[in-house]
Amino acid sequence: MKKTLQTIAAIAIFSTASLAQRTLLHCGTFIDVTKGNTQSQVTVIVEGKRVTGVQTGYLAPKGTDKVIDLKSKTVMPGLTDMHVHIEGETSKDQLVKRYQFNQADVAFEAARNAKTTLMAGFTSVRDLGGSGVNIALRNAISKGIAVGPRIYTAGRTIATTGGHGDPTNALSENYTPDPHMVTGVINGAEEARQAVRQRYKDGSDCIKITATGGVLSIAKNGKAPQFQEDELEAIIKTAKDYGFHVAAHAHGAEGIKRAAKAGVTTIEHGTFMDDEAIDIMKQKGTYLVATILAGKTVADSAKVPGYYHPLVVPKALETGPLIQNMFGKAYKAGVKIAFGTDSGVSLHGLNAYEFQYMVEAGMPAIEAIQAATVTPAKILGVEKDLGSIEAGKFADIIATDGNPLQDITQMRKVSFVMKDGVVYKQ
Ligand SMILES: [Zn+2]
Repeated sequence: MKKTLQTIAAIAIFSTASLAQRTLLHCGTFIDVTKGNTQSQVTVIVEGKRVTGVQTGYLAPKGTDKVIDLKSKTVMPGLTDMHVHIEGETSKDQLVKRYQFNQADVAFEAARNAKTTLMAGFTSVRDLGGSGVNIALRNAISKGIAVGPRIYTAGRTIATTGGHGDPTNALSENYTPDPHMVTGVINGAEEARQAVRQRYKDGSDCIKITATGGVLSIAKNGKAPQFQEDELEAIIKTAKDYGFHVAAHAHGAEGIKRAAKAGVTTIEHGTFMDDEAIDIMKQKGTYLVATILAGKTVADSAKVPGYYHPLVVPKALETGPLIQNMFGKAYKAGVKIAFGTDSGVSLHGLNAYEFQYMVEAGMPAIEAIQAATVTPAKILGVEKDLGSIEAGKFADIIATDGNPLQDITQMRKVSFVMKDGVVYKQ
């Protein structure tokens, strides 16, 4: 009897020890996104899902410690893309798929997109609109059933009738049940409130509205405002009650101004932003998520005959090439910036091209990386857990082969990915 108890005690001690097994990451170059500088020869200590220490020098392993050698690499926090559509991906038959695909088909493609995104170094994403598969996928990933980034999702977009994001635009009447606030289409302040509450019921993490026309909707105008002030006010006020922040898709200046004045947290795209819009955004502290990559992608695809619907082509050709210049102007004027690509409009996994476009437009590389690490954590309200590699935070850590502060294209060469302390790519 005594012996058995001793054995049990020994097993207990052993299992405690193995639970506390440490992984030591020996980092050649370490980007400290909080301080905005780099250090060389740093050890990051990971236990379970979290970072438990960051030390100068290469700490020697003890006992059961495991070492991961990243001495030739540049190490930084896992990246966050603040604007993706995880469910879909651009293709010539994208419109036809709307008639053919069931939710189960969408789900398998979404799962593939999520994995691709994680392998590119994006350990978190903000998903700004889909059919509800995005919510299920978020849950599956957090349970460990599917592989992908942490997803913060808006669920379904909130749009107005015929507006950007009305899922029934251009469909035959045989396929158009009356759209309503459950599917995300509202008219008037009362329905706006209901739609936000419906998103809460669905399990969304944030709210996405389409404050102006958009490029890829089958509709003529890609710039005009599509929400009136009372609708915006109702959305913002209701969103606050439920702890949601609001992201507003907006290309035209009037829609940007209305949304920023009403108090949205982020403006997506911002293409035709004028000086007044810049002033309002600065005054209100609104972030710009420019999605330069989406602009370049749609402008290129619009040149391929038949790739887009005829109503989309002129909008893509006009809007796409303007975004990078607008971004440079807004950044230099002092508008706050968060990193986002609109991936799905482009192929998933190419997200890091955005860094290069941001730097080309005049943003220093370290600030572009901060826009994809510390800034998203702040917007999402998860600074305690994410955004930097510090003791106590989740071990979401990536590494590139070369130093992206010297050559920003290195951001496309992510060769190590850890999320929640689990290595997904090495
Ligand atoms: Zn989008």
